[in-house]
Amino acid sequence: MIETHGYATDGPEAKFHPWTFERRDVGPKDILIEIEYAGICHSDIHAAKNEWEAMMPTTYPLVPGHEIVGRVTQVGDSVTKFKVGDIAGIGCFIDSCRECKPCKEGFQQFCVKGAAFTYAGTYMDRVTPTYGGYSDKYVIDENYALKVNDNVGDLAGVAPLMCAGITTYSPLRRFGAGPGKKVGIVGLGGLGHMGVKLAVAMGADVTVFSTSPSKEPDAKSLGAHHFVVTKDPANLEPLAGQFDIILDTVSADHDINPYIAMLGVRGTLVVIGVPPSPNSVHSFGLIFGNKSIAGSLIGGIPETQEMLDFCAEHGVKSEVEVIKPDYIETAYDRTVKSDVRYRFVIDIKNA
Ligand code: NAP
Ligand code: ZN
Ligand code: ZN
Repeated sequence: MIETHGYATDGPEAKFHPWTFERRDVGPKDILIEIEYAGICHSDIHAAKNEWEAMMPTTYPLVPGHEIVGRVTQVGDSVTKFKVGDIAGIGCFIDSCRECKPCKEGFQQFCVKGAAFTYAGTYMDRVTPTYGGYSDKYVIDENYALKVNDNVGDLAGVAPLMCAGITTYSPLRRFGAGPGKKVGIVGLGGLGHMGVKLAVAMGADVTVFSTSPSKEPDAKSLGAHHFVVTKDPANLEPLAGQFDIILDTVSADHDINPYIAMLGVRGTLVVIGVPPSPNSVHSFGLIFGNKSIAGSLIGGIPETQEMLDFCAEHGVKSEVEVIKPDYIETAYDRTVKSDVRYRFVIDIKNA
Protein backbone atom coordinates (compact mmCIF):
# COMPACT_ATOMS: atom_id res chain seq x y z
CA MET A 1 0.00 0.00 0.00
CA ILE A 2 1.08 3.58 -0.57
CA GLU A 3 1.09 5.97 2.36
CA THR A 4 -0.74 9.15 1.41
CA HIS A 5 -0.90 12.43 3.27
CA GLY A 6 -4.10 14.38 2.95
CA TYR A 7 -6.46 16.83 4.61
CA ALA A 8 -9.69 15.46 6.02
CA THR A 9 -12.76 16.70 7.82
CA ASP A 10 -14.67 14.50 10.27
CA GLY A 11 -18.11 16.12 10.23
CA PRO A 12 -20.23 19.01 8.94
CA GLU A 13 -18.97 21.38 11.63
CA ALA A 14 -15.44 19.98 11.92
CA LYS A 15 -12.22 21.62 10.78
CA PHE A 16 -9.82 20.15 8.25
CA HIS A 17 -6.77 18.41 9.68
CA PRO A 18 -3.79 16.51 8.24
CA TRP A 19 -4.66 12.85 7.85
CA THR A 20 -2.65 9.87 6.65
CA PHE A 21 -4.28 7.02 4.75
CA GLU A 22 -3.34 4.36 2.20
CA ARG A 23 -3.83 4.05 -1.51
CA ARG A 24 -3.56 0.78 -3.39
CA ASP A 25 -0.28 -0.31 -4.94
CA VAL A 26 0.23 0.51 -8.59
CA GLY A 27 -1.39 -2.28 -10.65
CA PRO A 28 -0.54 -3.20 -14.24
CA LYS A 29 -2.92 -0.58 -15.72
CA ASP A 30 -2.43 2.02 -12.98
CA ILE A 31 -0.45 5.20 -12.76
CA LEU A 32 0.70 6.96 -9.59
CA ILE A 33 0.21 10.71 -9.69
CA GLU A 34 2.08 13.00 -7.31
CA ILE A 35 -0.52 15.71 -6.92
CA GLU A 36 0.65 19.30 -7.42
CA TYR A 37 -2.63 21.24 -7.26
CA ALA A 38 -6.20 20.53 -6.19
CA GLY A 39 -9.00 23.00 -6.91
CA ILE A 40 -11.73 23.76 -4.39
CA CYS A 41 -15.10 23.15 -6.06
CA HIS A 42 -18.27 24.31 -4.35
CA SER A 43 -19.33 20.63 -4.44
CA ASP A 44 -16.48 19.99 -1.96
CA ILE A 45 -18.16 22.47 0.36
CA HIS A 46 -21.66 21.00 -0.11
CA ALA A 47 -20.16 17.57 0.67
CA ALA A 48 -18.02 18.69 3.63
CA LYS A 49 -21.03 20.38 5.23
CA ASN A 50 -23.33 17.45 4.32
CA GLU A 51 -25.66 19.85 2.50
CA TRP A 52 -26.82 17.13 0.11
CA GLU A 53 -27.74 14.80 2.97
CA ALA A 54 -31.17 13.99 1.52
CA MET A 55 -29.77 12.74 -1.82
CA MET A 56 -26.13 11.89 -1.11
CA PRO A 57 -25.22 11.80 2.58
CA THR A 58 -21.53 12.40 3.23
CA THR A 59 -19.38 9.75 4.85
CA TYR A 60 -16.51 10.92 7.04
CA PRO A 61 -13.56 11.23 7.23
CA LEU A 62 -13.93 13.15 4.00
CA VAL A 63 -10.94 14.10 1.86
CA PRO A 64 -12.49 16.24 -0.90
CA GLY A 65 -10.92 17.30 -4.18
CA HIS A 66 -11.81 16.35 -7.75
CA GLU A 67 -9.89 19.00 -9.64
CA ILE A 68 -6.53 17.31 -9.57
CA VAL A 69 -3.37 17.82 -11.56
CA GLY A 70 0.10 16.43 -11.03
CA ARG A 71 3.01 14.43 -12.39
CA VAL A 72 3.09 10.74 -13.15
CA THR A 73 5.83 9.16 -11.00
CA GLN A 74 5.15 5.47 -11.54
CA VAL A 75 3.40 3.44 -14.23
CA GLY A 76 2.20 -0.17 -14.25
CA ASP A 77 3.63 -2.72 -16.67
CA SER A 78 0.70 -2.54 -19.11
CA VAL A 79 0.28 1.23 -19.16
CA THR A 80 0.44 2.74 -22.66
CA LYS A 81 -1.10 6.22 -22.36
CA PHE A 82 1.32 7.72 -19.83
CA LYS A 83 4.99 7.63 -19.01
CA VAL A 84 6.85 8.81 -15.93
CA GLY A 85 7.12 12.61 -15.95
CA ASP A 86 3.87 13.22 -17.88
CA ILE A 87 1.31 15.67 -16.52
CA ALA A 88 -1.96 13.98 -15.64
CA GLY A 89 -5.32 15.13 -14.39
CA ILE A 90 -8.14 13.51 -12.45
CA GLY A 91 -11.71 14.77 -12.45
CA CYS A 92 -14.83 13.71 -10.61
CA PHE A 93 -14.69 9.94 -11.07
CA ILE A 94 -11.89 7.40 -11.12
CA ASP A 95 -13.55 4.21 -12.38
CA SER A 96 -16.79 2.72 -13.68
CA CYS A 97 -18.00 -0.70 -14.87
CA ARG A 98 -16.73 -0.19 -18.45
CA GLU A 99 -19.43 -2.51 -19.83
CA CYS A 100 -22.77 -0.74 -19.64
CA LYS A 101 -24.20 1.42 -22.42
CA PRO A 102 -23.22 4.80 -20.90
CA CYS A 103 -19.69 3.54 -20.17
CA LYS A 104 -19.30 2.24 -23.73
CA GLU A 105 -20.63 5.53 -25.11
CA GLY A 106 -18.12 7.55 -23.08
CA PHE A 107 -20.58 8.78 -20.45
CA GLN A 108 -18.85 7.01 -17.58
CA GLN A 109 -20.29 9.48 -15.08
CA PHE A 110 -23.67 7.79 -15.70
CA CYS A 111 -22.44 4.19 -15.37
CA VAL A 112 -25.53 2.10 -14.57
CA LYS A 113 -23.63 0.38 -11.78
CA GLY A 114 -22.61 3.77 -10.41
CA ALA A 115 -19.29 5.37 -11.23
CA ALA A 116 -16.60 5.38 -8.56
CA PHE A 117 -16.47 9.04 -7.63
CA THR A 118 -13.11 10.55 -6.77
CA TYR A 119 -14.07 11.19 -3.16
CA ALA A 120 -16.98 10.48 -0.83
CA GLY A 121 -17.71 7.30 -2.76
CA THR A 122 -16.26 3.84 -3.06
CA TYR A 123 -14.10 2.02 -5.55
CA MET A 124 -15.95 -0.45 -7.79
CA ASP A 125 -15.65 -3.08 -5.03
CA ARG A 126 -18.31 -0.91 -3.35
CA VAL A 127 -16.49 -1.23 -0.05
CA THR A 128 -13.23 0.70 -0.15
CA PRO A 129 -13.87 4.42 0.32
CA THR A 130 -12.40 6.92 -2.12
CA TYR A 131 -10.42 9.90 -0.87
CA GLY A 132 -9.90 12.92 -3.08
CA GLY A 133 -7.25 15.30 -4.22
CA TYR A 134 -6.62 17.29 -1.03
CA SER A 135 -3.76 14.80 -0.70
CA ASP A 136 -0.34 14.20 -2.14
CA LYS A 137 -0.92 11.09 -4.29
CA TYR A 138 -3.56 9.25 -6.29
CA VAL A 139 -3.41 5.80 -7.89
CA ILE A 140 -5.73 5.52 -10.85
CA ASP A 141 -6.31 3.32 -13.89
CA GLU A 142 -4.77 5.11 -16.85
CA ASN A 143 -8.07 5.05 -18.75
CA TYR A 144 -9.66 7.29 -16.13
CA ALA A 145 -6.83 9.85 -16.00
CA LEU A 146 -6.61 12.79 -18.37
CA LYS A 147 -3.61 13.84 -20.40
CA VAL A 148 -2.46 17.42 -19.97
CA ASN A 149 -0.37 19.03 -22.69
CA ASP A 150 3.23 19.60 -21.57
CA ASN A 151 3.31 23.20 -22.74
CA VAL A 152 0.37 24.54 -20.70
CA GLY A 153 2.76 26.31 -18.30
CA ASP A 154 1.80 26.82 -14.67
CA LEU A 155 -0.47 23.97 -13.61
CA ALA A 156 -2.50 25.77 -10.92
CA GLY A 157 -4.93 27.15 -13.50
CA VAL A 158 -5.29 23.74 -15.13
CA ALA A 159 -6.59 21.88 -12.06
CA PRO A 160 -10.07 23.54 -12.13
CA LEU A 161 -10.58 22.44 -15.72
CA MET A 162 -11.10 18.89 -14.40
CA CYS A 163 -14.49 19.84 -12.94
CA ALA A 164 -15.39 23.50 -13.55
CA GLY A 165 -14.00 23.31 -17.09
CA ILE A 166 -15.77 20.18 -18.25
CA THR A 167 -19.00 21.01 -16.42
CA THR A 168 -19.40 24.17 -18.47
CA TYR A 169 -17.77 22.93 -21.70
CA SER A 170 -20.10 19.94 -22.06
CA PRO A 171 -23.45 21.78 -22.11
CA LEU A 172 -22.03 24.64 -24.18
CA ARG A 173 -21.05 22.10 -26.84
CA ARG A 174 -24.23 20.06 -26.50
CA PHE A 175 -26.47 23.07 -27.05
CA GLY A 176 -24.37 24.58 -29.81
CA ALA A 177 -22.61 27.61 -28.31
CA GLY A 178 -20.75 29.41 -31.05
CA PRO A 179 -20.83 32.41 -33.39
CA GLY A 180 -24.29 33.97 -33.63
CA LYS A 181 -25.46 32.41 -30.36
CA LYS A 182 -26.33 34.36 -27.23
CA VAL A 183 -25.14 32.63 -24.08
CA GLY A 184 -25.97 33.68 -20.52
CA ILE A 185 -23.92 32.57 -17.53
CA VAL A 186 -25.63 32.87 -14.15
CA GLY A 187 -23.22 33.23 -11.22
CA LEU A 188 -19.62 34.33 -11.69
CA GLY A 189 -17.82 31.82 -9.51
CA GLY A 190 -15.64 28.82 -10.31
CA LEU A 191 -17.97 27.27 -12.86
CA GLY A 192 -19.28 30.59 -14.10
CA HIS A 193 -15.92 32.11 -14.95
CA MET A 194 -14.95 28.97 -16.87
CA GLY A 195 -18.29 29.12 -18.67
CA VAL A 196 -17.51 32.70 -19.73
CA LYS A 197 -14.02 31.86 -20.98
CA LEU A 198 -15.16 28.77 -22.86
CA ALA A 199 -18.25 30.35 -24.43
CA VAL A 200 -16.12 33.31 -25.53
CA ALA A 201 -13.50 30.94 -26.98
CA MET A 202 -16.30 29.17 -28.88
CA GLY A 203 -17.31 32.51 -30.42
CA ALA A 204 -20.61 33.17 -28.63
CA ASP A 205 -21.97 36.51 -27.42
CA VAL A 206 -21.75 36.16 -23.64
CA THR A 207 -23.73 37.84 -20.86
CA VAL A 208 -22.94 37.37 -17.16
CA PHE A 209 -25.81 37.45 -14.66
CA SER A 210 -24.41 38.20 -11.23
CA THR A 211 -25.50 39.26 -7.77
CA SER A 212 -22.11 40.98 -7.31
CA PRO A 213 -21.84 44.37 -9.06
CA SER A 214 -18.13 44.49 -8.13
CA LYS A 215 -17.41 41.59 -10.50
CA GLU A 216 -18.26 43.57 -13.65
CA PRO A 217 -14.67 44.57 -14.55
CA ASP A 218 -13.53 40.98 -14.07
CA ALA A 219 -16.38 39.65 -16.21
CA LYS A 220 -15.32 41.99 -19.00
CA SER A 221 -11.67 41.03 -18.72
CA LEU A 222 -12.66 37.36 -18.86
CA GLY A 223 -14.19 38.24 -22.24
CA ALA A 224 -17.88 38.66 -21.38
CA HIS A 225 -19.66 41.12 -23.65
CA HIS A 226 -22.41 42.14 -21.22
CA PHE A 227 -22.88 42.18 -17.44
CA VAL A 228 -26.25 42.26 -15.70
CA VAL A 229 -26.79 42.71 -11.97
CA THR A 230 -29.61 40.35 -11.02
CA LYS A 231 -30.59 41.87 -7.70
CA ASP A 232 -32.91 44.33 -9.46
CA PRO A 233 -35.55 42.44 -11.52
CA ALA A 234 -35.96 45.55 -13.67
CA ASN A 235 -32.55 44.76 -15.18
CA LEU A 236 -33.83 41.43 -16.50
CA GLU A 237 -37.17 42.40 -18.03
CA PRO A 238 -35.76 44.08 -21.17
CA LEU A 239 -33.83 40.87 -21.91
CA ALA A 240 -36.93 38.66 -22.22
CA GLY A 241 -36.79 36.17 -25.09
CA GLN A 242 -33.17 36.82 -26.08
CA PHE A 243 -30.97 33.88 -25.14
CA ASP A 244 -30.18 30.62 -26.90
CA ILE A 245 -28.46 29.02 -23.91
CA ILE A 246 -28.30 30.01 -20.26
CA LEU A 247 -26.04 28.07 -17.88
CA ASP A 248 -27.18 28.40 -14.28
CA THR A 249 -24.20 27.75 -12.02
CA VAL A 250 -25.66 29.13 -8.79
CA SER A 251 -24.95 27.08 -5.67
CA ALA A 252 -27.64 28.62 -3.43
CA ASP A 253 -31.44 28.51 -3.55
CA HIS A 254 -32.84 30.98 -6.10
CA ASP A 255 -35.73 31.39 -8.54
CA ILE A 256 -34.96 30.09 -12.04
CA ASN A 257 -38.16 31.45 -13.65
CA PRO A 258 -36.64 34.82 -14.63
CA TYR A 259 -34.00 32.94 -16.64
CA ILE A 260 -36.63 30.88 -18.44
CA ALA A 261 -38.27 34.17 -19.38
CA MET A 262 -35.02 35.37 -20.93
CA LEU A 263 -34.75 32.34 -23.26
CA GLY A 264 -35.68 32.81 -26.89
CA VAL A 265 -37.81 30.35 -28.88
CA ARG A 266 -36.40 26.83 -28.38
CA GLY A 267 -33.82 28.19 -25.94
CA THR A 268 -32.41 26.03 -23.15
CA LEU A 269 -31.74 26.76 -19.51
CA VAL A 270 -29.06 24.33 -18.37
CA VAL A 271 -29.05 23.68 -14.66
CA ILE A 272 -25.58 22.82 -13.42
CA GLY A 273 -25.52 24.37 -9.95
CA VAL A 274 -26.92 22.20 -7.19
CA PRO A 275 -28.71 24.33 -4.59
CA PRO A 276 -30.01 22.42 -1.58
CA SER A 277 -33.76 22.86 -2.34
CA PRO A 278 -35.89 21.96 -5.40
CA ASN A 279 -37.09 24.65 -7.79
CA SER A 280 -40.63 25.38 -8.90
CA VAL A 281 -41.40 26.21 -12.53
CA HIS A 282 -44.68 27.29 -14.13
CA SER A 283 -45.51 25.34 -17.30
CA PHE A 284 -46.55 28.48 -19.18
CA GLY A 285 -43.01 29.74 -18.93
CA LEU A 286 -41.83 26.73 -20.89
CA ILE A 287 -44.61 26.07 -23.39
CA PHE A 288 -44.68 29.61 -24.75
CA GLY A 289 -41.51 29.38 -26.81
CA ASN A 290 -40.92 25.59 -26.79
CA LYS A 291 -38.25 26.16 -24.18
CA SER A 292 -36.28 23.50 -22.35
CA ILE A 293 -34.71 23.04 -18.99
CA ALA A 294 -31.79 20.63 -19.11
CA GLY A 295 -29.40 19.24 -16.58
CA SER A 296 -25.74 18.48 -17.09
CA LEU A 297 -23.29 16.55 -14.94
CA ILE A 298 -19.57 17.00 -15.56
CA GLY A 299 -18.54 15.01 -18.67
CA GLY A 300 -17.22 11.60 -19.66
CA ILE A 301 -13.56 10.82 -20.25
CA PRO A 302 -13.55 11.42 -24.04
CA GLU A 303 -15.24 14.81 -23.72
CA THR A 304 -13.08 15.84 -20.76
CA GLN A 305 -10.00 15.08 -22.86
CA GLU A 306 -11.53 17.04 -25.76
CA MET A 307 -12.09 19.99 -23.39
CA LEU A 308 -8.48 19.88 -22.15
CA ASP A 309 -7.22 19.84 -25.73
CA PHE A 310 -9.55 22.74 -26.60
CA CYS A 311 -8.25 24.71 -23.60
CA ALA A 312 -4.61 24.02 -24.54
CA GLU A 313 -5.29 25.18 -28.09
CA HIS A 314 -7.17 28.34 -27.04
CA GLY A 315 -5.00 29.19 -24.02
CA VAL A 316 -7.93 28.80 -21.64
CA LYS A 317 -7.16 28.29 -17.94
CA SER A 318 -8.87 29.10 -14.69
CA GLU A 319 -8.21 32.33 -12.77
CA VAL A 320 -6.92 31.05 -9.47
CA GLU A 321 -5.97 32.07 -5.98
CA VAL A 322 -3.36 29.56 -4.84
CA ILE A 323 -3.55 28.72 -1.16
CA LYS A 324 -1.87 26.56 1.47
CA PRO A 325 -3.88 23.77 3.12
CA ASP A 326 -4.24 25.77 6.35
CA TYR A 327 -6.38 28.24 4.39
CA ILE A 328 -9.05 25.67 3.35
CA GLU A 329 -11.56 26.82 5.98
CA THR A 330 -11.18 30.46 5.01
CA ALA A 331 -11.38 29.57 1.34
CA TYR A 332 -14.65 27.72 2.02
CA ASP A 333 -16.07 30.71 3.91
CA ARG A 334 -15.05 33.11 1.17
CA THR A 335 -16.47 30.87 -1.56
CA VAL A 336 -19.81 30.65 0.25
CA LYS A 337 -19.82 34.47 0.43
CA SER A 338 -19.26 34.62 -3.37
CA ASP A 339 -15.84 36.10 -2.61
CA VAL A 340 -13.89 33.76 -4.86
CA ARG A 341 -11.88 35.16 -7.77
CA TYR A 342 -12.38 32.72 -9.28
CA ARG A 343 -11.14 29.38 -7.97
CA PHE A 344 -9.17 28.54 -4.87
CA VAL A 345 -6.50 26.00 -5.65
CA ILE A 346 -4.51 24.22 -2.95
CA ASP A 347 -0.77 24.07 -3.52
CA ILE A 348 -0.24 20.44 -2.57
CA LYS A 349 3.29 20.21 -3.91
CA ASN A 350 4.61 22.84 -1.49
CA ALA A 351 2.22 22.06 1.37
P1 NAP B 1 -18.93 29.10 -6.62
O1 NAP B 1 -17.54 29.28 -7.10
O2 NAP B 1 -19.27 29.31 -5.20
O3 NAP B 1 -19.87 30.00 -7.56
C1 NAP B 1 -21.26 30.10 -7.37
C2 NAP B 1 -21.69 31.52 -7.72
O4 NAP B 1 -23.12 31.56 -7.60
C3 NAP B 1 -21.19 32.57 -6.79
O5 NAP B 1 -19.90 33.04 -7.06
C4 NAP B 1 -22.21 33.67 -7.01
O6 NAP B 1 -21.90 34.41 -8.19
C5 NAP B 1 -23.49 32.89 -7.26
N1 NAP B 1 -24.32 32.85 -6.07
C6 NAP B 1 -23.98 32.43 -4.83
N2 NAP B 1 -25.00 32.56 -3.98
C7 NAP B 1 -26.04 33.06 -4.70
C8 NAP B 1 -27.38 33.39 -4.40
N3 NAP B 1 -27.87 33.26 -3.14
N4 NAP B 1 -28.18 33.87 -5.39
C9 NAP B 1 -27.70 34.01 -6.63
N5 NAP B 1 -26.42 33.73 -6.97
C10 NAP B 1 -25.61 33.25 -6.02
O7 NAP B 1 -19.43 27.60 -6.93
P2 NAP B 1 -18.98 26.62 -8.13
O8 NAP B 1 -17.83 25.80 -7.68
O9 NAP B 1 -18.95 27.38 -9.38
O10 NAP B 1 -20.22 25.60 -8.12
C11 NAP B 1 -21.53 26.10 -8.40
C12 NAP B 1 -22.55 25.00 -8.20
O11 NAP B 1 -22.37 24.00 -9.20
C13 NAP B 1 -22.45 24.27 -6.87
O12 NAP B 1 -23.77 24.01 -6.41
C14 NAP B 1 -21.74 22.97 -7.22
O13 NAP B 1 -22.02 21.92 -6.35
C15 NAP B 1 -22.31 22.71 -8.59
N6 NAP B 1 -21.51 21.85 -9.46
C16 NAP B 1 -22.18 21.09 -10.35
C17 NAP B 1 -21.49 20.29 -11.25
C18 NAP B 1 -22.23 19.50 -12.27
O14 NAP B 1 -21.66 18.57 -12.84
N7 NAP B 1 -23.47 19.82 -12.56
C19 NAP B 1 -20.10 20.27 -11.21
C20 NAP B 1 -19.44 21.09 -10.30
C21 NAP B 1 -20.15 21.89 -9.43
P3 NAP B 1 -22.20 36.01 -8.28
O15 NAP B 1 -21.38 36.64 -7.21
O16 NAP B 1 -21.75 36.33 -9.65
O17 NAP B 1 -23.68 36.17 -8.10
ZN1 ZN C 1 -16.69 19.92 -8.85
ZN1 ZN D 1 -20.84 1.28 -16.59
